[in-house]
Amino acid sequence: MGRGASRIAAAAMATVHIVGAGMAGLAAAVRLARRGRRVVLYDRAPMAGGRCRSYYDTALDRLIDNGNHLLLSANRAALAFMRDSGGQGRLRGSGSARFAFTDLADGTSFAVRPNAGPLPWWIWASGRRIPGTQPSDYLSGLAFLRARGQATVADIVGNEDPLFRPFWEPLTLAVLNTTPDRAAASLLAAVLRRTFAWGEQRCRPLIAERGLGPDLVDPAVGYLIASGAEVAFGRRLRRIGRDGGRAVSLDFGDGEVALKASDSVVLAVPPSAAGELLPELQVPEDGDTILNAHFRVDGPLPHDDGPILGLLGSTAQWVFSRGDVISVTVSAAGDLADRPASELAETLWADVAKAMRLGARPLPAHRIIKERRATFAQTPENLLRRPGTRTRLDNLMLAGDWTDTGLPATIEGAVTSGQRAASALLRRRHG
Ligand SMILES: Cc1cc2nc3c(=O)[nH]c(=O)nc-3n(C[C@H](O)[C@H](O)[C@H](O)COP(=O)(O)OP(=O)(O)OC[C@H]3O[C@@H](n4cnc5c(N)ncnc54)[C@H](O)[C@@H]3O)c2cc1C
Repeated sequence: MGRGASRIAAAAMATVHIVGAGMAGLAAAVRLARRGRRVVLYDRAPMAGGRCRSYYDTALDRLIDNGNHLLLSANRAALAFMRDSGGQGRLRGSGSARFAFTDLADGTSFAVRPNAGPLPWWIWASGRRIPGTQPSDYLSGLAFLRARGQATVADIVGNEDPLFRPFWEPLTLAVLNTTPDRAAASLLAAVLRRTFAWGEQRCRPLIAERGLGPDLVDPAVGYLIASGAEVAFGRRLRRIGRDGGRAVSLDFGDGEVALKASDSVVLAVPPSAAGELLPELQVPEDGDTILNAHFRVDGPLPHDDGPILGLLGSTAQWVFSRGDVISVTVSAAGDLADRPASELAETLWADVAKAMRLGARPLPAHRIIKERRATFAQTPENLLRRPGTRTRLDNLMLAGDWTDTGLPATIEGAVTSGQRAASALLRRRHG
C-alpha cells in the first residue's frame, strides 16, 4: 500500500467523537460524515438541537419551538448545512425583505424595506424610510462599519438618535440578545456587513415553518444515521482524560471511551460546560434570558403583515405567526425572567391582541418558555474571551456559537463554528 493509500485507510478507521448535538455539533458531524469520516455524536439531552429544538406541547396540543428563530438569506453557512443534510428548501421565505413594525405607544405602523443591490436608495425614498427620519440619520450605519474594540452599540448611536428606538435598539436585541448600552458594536457591524450592506437579497427572513426540529435538526440526524454515524443521547461528558498534549479518553459516567491514536474530538457544548471540562479555557460569561410565549388561537387572524411583526412601545418585541400558533419573543428579558408565567402570558397576550387587532379575546391556551442562558453576553469584554477552534489538546477542537467566529451567537455562528472544527480536523493527517 502506498503512503497516500495508507493515510486514507488510517483516516477512514479514525473516529471523530462529537460531544454536543446542538447546531454546532450537528454541523461538524454532517461535514465530517460527508467526507467519509466515522462519527459518533453524543448529547446529554434525550434529543438533538440544544437551544434550537422543537417539542410536542400538551397545553397547546401542537409541536412548538423552544423559541422563535429567524434566519436570513445571508446565512450561507446555515443554508449550506441544510443542503448538505437534505433539509434544503424547508425554510419559508417571504420572497423579499420586508420587516413590518407596529408601535403600540401611538398605533403607527411602518415597514423597513431595503432595496436590491448595495446602493441603499431606499433611504432617500420617503415612503420606504422609517417615519420621522431623514436620509442623514442613516449615516450611523456607516459609523457601525468602522466600529472597533470596546465600543458598544449605544456608543455609536445614543438613545437620542432618531433611528435608535425604531431600528437600532430592536435590531440589537434581536441579533445580540444584549441591551445596546452593553452590546458590542463590532458584532452588530459583522451582521450589517453580511446583510444590509448587500441589499435586500441578503436580508430576506427565513422561518422554519414546520418547526426547528422537523426543518433543521431531524434532517441532519437522519442524514447522519443513514451515513453510518452513531448517535448517542443521554450521554453527558464528565471528564476528558489527557496524556501530554492529547485527549485520550472520554468519561461519560457509564464507562470510559478510550480514544485511539488516530481519534479526535469536537467539543460542541455551551461555554459553561466547556469551561468545566477544560479548566484552562477562558470562556465568555453567560448572557441574558430570551423569553418566548406561545399562544394557540382559534379562528381567523385579521392581521396580514406576514410571518413576523416587530413591536415597539410594548413588552412583546417580535410576533411570529405559524398556523394557529402565535409566538412572542422578548430578548434581553432578565427583568421579566422571575415573573410568574401566568402574569407574563396576560401581559404578552394583551400586546398581541392590540398589535393584531384581535379585539377582546380571552387569554388562549399558552406556554411560556424562559431560556435563561440563551446566549453568552455579547459585550466587547466577552468578545476577548471567545476561544478559537484549536485547543492545547492537539486532537480536540472546539465548536459552539460562543467560540470566536466573528459572528453573533446565532444559528449561523454555531454552524460556522462546527464547520470550522470539521475543516480543521480534515486538514490534520488522520482527520
Ligand atoms: C430562545 C432562543 C431564541 C433564539 N433565536 C435565534 C434566532 O432567531 N436566530 C438565530 O440564528 N439564533 C437564535 N438563537 C441562538 C441559537 O439557538 C444558538 O446560537 C444555537 O442554537 C447554539 O448552538 P450550539 O450548538 O452552539 O449550542 P447548543 O444548542 O447549546 O448545543 C450544545 C449541546 O451540548 C449539550 N451538552 C451540554 N453539556 C454537555 C455534556 N457535558 N455532555 C454532552 N452534551 C452536553 C447540550 O445538551 C446541547 O444539546 C436563539 C436561542 C434561543 C435560546
